[in-house]
Parts: sequence; C-alpha cells; structure tokens
Amino acid sequence: MKKEVLLTPGPSQVPHRVAAAGAAPIMHHRTAEFGEIFARAVAGMKKVYGTEGDVFIIASSGSGAMEMAVVNALSPGDRVVVGNTGKFGERFAQLCRVYGVEVVELVREWGKIVTPEEMDEVLTKEKDIKAVFITYSETSTGIMHPLAELGEVIDRHGALFIVDAVSGLGGLEMKMDEWKVDMVAAGSQKALMLPPGLSFLGVRGEKAWKAVEESKIPKYYYDLKKYRKSMQKSGDTPFTIPVTLVISLDESLKMMFEEGLESIYERHKKMAAATRAGVKALGLKLFSEHLSYVETVLEVPEGMDGKKLSSLITNKYGCRVAGGQDAYKGKIVRIAHMGYVTHHDVLLAISALEMSLKELGHDFELGTGVRAAEEVFLS
Ligand SMILES: *Cc1c(COP(=O)(O)O)cnc(C)c1O
Repeated sequence: MKKEVLLTPGPSQVPHRVAAAGAAPIMHHRTAEFGEIFARAVAGMKKVYGTEGDVFIIASSGSGAMEMAVVNALSPGDRVVVGNTGKFGERFAQLCRVYGVEVVELVREWGKIVTPEEMDEVLTKEKDIKAVFITYSETSTGIMHPLAELGEVIDRHGALFIVDAVSGLGGLEMKMDEWKVDMVAAGSQKALMLPPGLSFLGVRGEKAWKAVEESKIPKYYYDLKKYRKSMQKSGDTPFTIPVTLVISLDESLKMMFEEGLESIYERHKKMAAATRAGVKALGLKLFSEHLSYVETVLEVPEGMDGKKLSSLITNKYGCRVAGGQDAYKGKIVRIAHMGYVTHHDVLLAISALEMSLKELGHDFELGTGVRAAEEVFLS
C-alpha cells in the first residue's frame, strides 16, 4: 500500500473541505449565483494581496499570470531589469525576450538574492528602465527577497515593480500597496491550498494602468483590458473561468480568514523554524541564509548520492520532496511547508529524512532531528 504526503513546492496539499467544495454540481459561469461566489473570491484575494487595487483571476498555471504581466506592462524595445536568482527569475527574463523586450539581467549565484543596495546601483547606472522583475520566493533555491525595501528603491527610480509571488502568496505576508508593488502574479497550487489551474494578477495604481494603456505587445487571451472591462461591466471574466476551482478558492479563503492571515504567516515561520532545527540537528547545512518561510532547502552531505536521498525520502518513506534543478541536481533537497501544512507534516518529513540518511550511512543518532523539531513546536 502506498500513502504519500505531498511536500513539494507546488503542487501542494489541498484540504478536504476545499476539494469537496469543488465537487459540487457545475454552475454556469454567467449566473447571479456564481457571480456572488466570484465577487467574494476576488474581494478575499484583495485582502491576501494587501491591495485596494484590482486582482484578476485567470485560467492558467502561475506562469500564465507572469506572461500576462509582461505582455500588458511592456512594449517591444522597452528596457527592463530582471533579478535572475534561479529558475523562475530566469523565466521572467525569457518571457521578456520572447516579446522583444531588452533585459538587463542580474544573474545571481543560486542561493543569493538581489539586495536593495544593488538594485539602487543598477537603477542609478542604467537609463530608461521601464520595469523591474523580482521573484518573491524563488522556489528553485528557496530564497526570499525583501520586497518592502526593494519597492522603496524601485519606486524612487520611477520604474514599475513587478513581482512573481506564485510560491509565496498565501503563506508569506504580501502588502502590495504599502510595499509599492505595481503588479503581482500568483498561482493556486502553492500556498493557497488549491489544485493547479488558477492564476492571479494583482494590478495597482495609475502607473500600472498607464503602462497597460501604452503597451504595444500583441495579445488576445491575456489582454488585461478585456478582463478589466468584464469585471467593471458584469463582474465576471472575458472567457470561461474554471468554476469548480473558483468555488474551491472561495472555500480556501474562508479557511484562511478563519485562521487569520497573521496567524497563517506565523504558522509558516514556525514550520520553517522547526524544519530547519531538525535539518541542522542532523548535521546538515541549509542551502542559503536567505531561505523563505515556505520552503527549506538543504545541502546533501558531501559524498552522498543526492538523487538517492530524495528518492528514499519520497518513494520509500512517503514524503514527496523535490530535488535540485539544473546544476543542483543531486546536490540539494527541497522540503516545502506551504499552505495546508502543520507539525504533522514537518515531523513526518524530518523522520523520513532521518531514516533515509541512516540508510545512506550518515552518522547521527536516530531521533535527533525529530527531537529538535519537536522542541521548536513546544517552545
Ligand atoms: C510554481 C512557480 C511558478 C509557476 O509555475 P507554474 O507551473 O506555471 O504554475 C512561478 N514562479 C514561482 C516562484 C513558482 O514557485
């Protein structure tokens, strides 16, 4: 028999309540009944985003919302700065280039971030930068960017600030208005406790909408003006929205507001602290000093087969974790604790890690990691 706990950085676990809500009979998407649910979901997402601006719900995975930001904010020939701190930062750079946008790419060694000081330097040196793209929580390396500080700098230089918060939103604090972020992309299958299939784009303020009006990149399905018009005219979407996922979203938002957003962020911090205490107690190293609260990335011990380690944790001990990508294949293990995650999941993960390490000959006393994690939960 197989019993698996999903601890990958997307997709993530979905609560029964949320899955069951989505199993209701299909509603038509242009009815008053569905309209009420849709409006409540949009209003709830605005709270999660920390914005008085707009949040659009899109039928796509998270990358769709990233593409929507690019094609609506820019024109061919525009110059932008992209923080390439891993796979997803790289994706923003690729997306921009596909549409003829000139990219000043800040490539960082995996595990490092783009600091506000570095951003200030680049924006002082480079002229005519239309937008800056930053990944909030970079899932390939586990790092998190200080958005408030970056927002301050980018706003001072007059550029648009566009953020990929796909992996963070719902588990990490987001204050779009206060932090002066102009567009924020998110996805359903990370910390929002939903299946894959929906993405979100937050758009705030005059600067962003002016850019949308001026944008000359061709688009049809992702045309933000169509979405805004539908929203204003009839409170719906230009194309058929996955109604079942929106009903599930309404339920996951209910759960989130029952717990309280602040409590959710605290819970994620606690999960991160407990996981990290467990990992360190086993004599392993964390991959970065900038790790976010939704994911713990650890270094595979010198000389150990990292692919085997991930495979044992996942296939033998039933905690599905992610290995490294690109040059870090076999070098790191990524344990996500985003969304529907409590101490149950963290203790299972550390226990699975311990048993797998033991099998591969790592020297430590069984239970050391679990005990360290338990101590964090009891503190
Ligand atoms: C998961 C993820 C995405 C989007 O991936 P999709 O597969 O398109 O949903 C984008 N950025 C980050 C940081 C992610 O973690």
